[in-house]
Amino acid sequence: MNDTQLLRYSRHILLDEIGIEGQQKLLAAQALVIGAGGLGSPAAMYLASAGVGHITLVDNDTVDLTNLQRQIAHTTERVGQSKAASARITLQQINPDIAVTALNERVDDARLAELVAQADVVLDCTDNFATRHAVNRACVALGKPLVSGAVIRFDGQVSVFDPRGGAQPCYSCLFPQDQQFEDVACSTMGVFAPLVGVVGAMQAAEALKLLMGVGASLAGRLLMLDGLHMEWTSIAVGRNGDCPVCATKKN
Ligand SMILES: [Zn+2]
Repeated sequence: MNDTQLLRYSRHILLDEIGIEGQQKLLAAQALVIGAGGLGSPAAMYLASAGVGHITLVDNDTVDLTNLQRQIAHTTERVGQSKAASARITLQQINPDIAVTALNERVDDARLAELVAQADVVLDCTDNFATRHAVNRACVALGKPLVSGAVIRFDGQVSVFDPRGGAQPCYSCLFPQDQQFEDVACSTMGVFAPLVGVVGAMQAAEALKLLMGVGASLAGRLLMLDGLHMEWTSIAVGRNGDCPVCATKKN
């Protein structure tokens, strides 16, 4: 690290659990953030400010006026632009020291496999079950830790699915692919703005810890937030022995 980096990251370096060694791990790391909306904005902004060396942002949507209430990486003047490109501008303004790749594309299974293979950690910041399951399948297949977040109305949830951890569940163990979940889009259901900030920031925190190998992750636990009464609930979640995604994987 050069002198400017030592200053920029000094409040991390001062932490015994991080230090220069931990910060160097972040600078050498690559994070894949899927979705540059309500969750992806704060998650990617914290990864950028914290010095994750390479962040890849994927989103095929464009910035809409209705996004600005909660998707804080975007600005009024960038309405109509690609969300990935818009968020990239914000991240590089926060931290020009890192590399940010903006991908304005809708990813299928094959493309996800390519992108996940390059990443050290994957953040699912999407808002639909089809993409969530596709991301989970890629992470299980390639053995990459997945930090998953979701927010709707006043409710949030966050967890980590780490296929490197042995007996821990994958996303599909909790939310089976064949089960019909009400796929409610934020655009139609409403979202309390700060909750995506709370959950997105927690996703960044878990991703940074995983990259540095410090603390204990949320793997095996699902944290649920009732934002209307501001109460957290933590439930232990186990592996489904019949899960079609991870049961055949011998970890
Ligand atoms: Zn599973």
